[in-house]
Amino acid sequence: MGLTMKAPAKINLTLDVLHKREDGYHEVEMVMTSIDLADHLHMVSRKDMDIHVECTTSFVPTDQRNLVYQAAKRLQARFNIKQGVHITIQKKIPVAAGLAGGSSDAAACIKGLNQLWGLRLTTNEMAALGAEIGSDVSFCIYGGTALATGRGEKIIPLPAPPPFWVILAKPPIGVSTGNIYGKLKADQIKAHPDTERMIEAIKEKDFELITASLGNVLEEVTLYEHPQVGQIKERMKRYGADGVLMSGSGPTVFGITQKESRMRKIYHALKGFCRDVYVVRSLGER
Ligand code: ATP
Repeated sequence: MGLTMKAPAKINLTLDVLHKREDGYHEVEMVMTSIDLADHLHMVSRKDMDIHVECTTSFVPTDQRNLVYQAAKRLQARFNIKQGVHITIQKKIPVAAGLAGGSSDAAACIKGLNQLWGLRLTTNEMAALGAEIGSDVSFCIYGGTALATGRGEKIIPLPAPPPFWVILAKPPIGVSTGNIYGKLKADQIKAHPDTERMIEAIKEKDFELITASLGNVLEEVTLYEHPQVGQIKERMKRYGADGVLMSGSGPTVFGITQKESRMRKIYHALKGFCRDVYVVRSLGER
């Protein structure tokens, strides 16, 4: 028996770091929303206990380093499952881009195996299990729009913001999330985003206030390390995006607008400057 799961990417509407914790993680506050740029996982159960992962992108590891492999292995051990699974990841989300591609794949794997292996886990149980694999996996289990706190694993679902276009541009560099957090001086952050205001803007479906409340404290670090990211931000603003921000630890920059004509103008203008440019819709709802 087989099934196909969709694994959507996310963008950060806000990313704030409150302080560094005793356990080495950072205490964060992030408002995230899913977008219609997705990987697909084709999953077929196996009679033996092997876990096989294949990926359409050659440079993504398919062994125990793959988050999908880790998710399947963990579920199999936790629930003493006597079957295996073959998973093919059809990759569309750029890798190491700040869009939670690996985390979303892991979340889709947990949800898929919950069906395939008949585990009957609740969303909360799947999110708790996901958090053992990575901080962003919990959010990806819920999807939609949510506030994430703690190290990113505590999720409070939010209503959908008004729909908008998302133009994404990824410069040809990969960024390591651990490296960027490592260079952040949490006690010297100059401008914290106003998370409360962003939540209010979403609840009020106030697009203008959403664009005015975008903020990501990791930009300071990534823009210093990779000036191209700042250049893309400048261009997106100049071409008319209503709001512009780097997602996660970068390097992907996104611009948002509700106007289709403006979206087209930004997309075509950026295409001449950056190879990896995408236009997608916000998903908003779970
Ligand atoms: P985040 O936004 O959660 O920090 P990201 O989008 O920056 O994540 P990913 O695309 O998840 O980064 O990839 C980070 C690293 O994880 C890659 O370099 C890759 O080697 C590894 N990885 C493990 N599993 C996967 C997967 N299923 N898809 C992509 N990368 C994976």
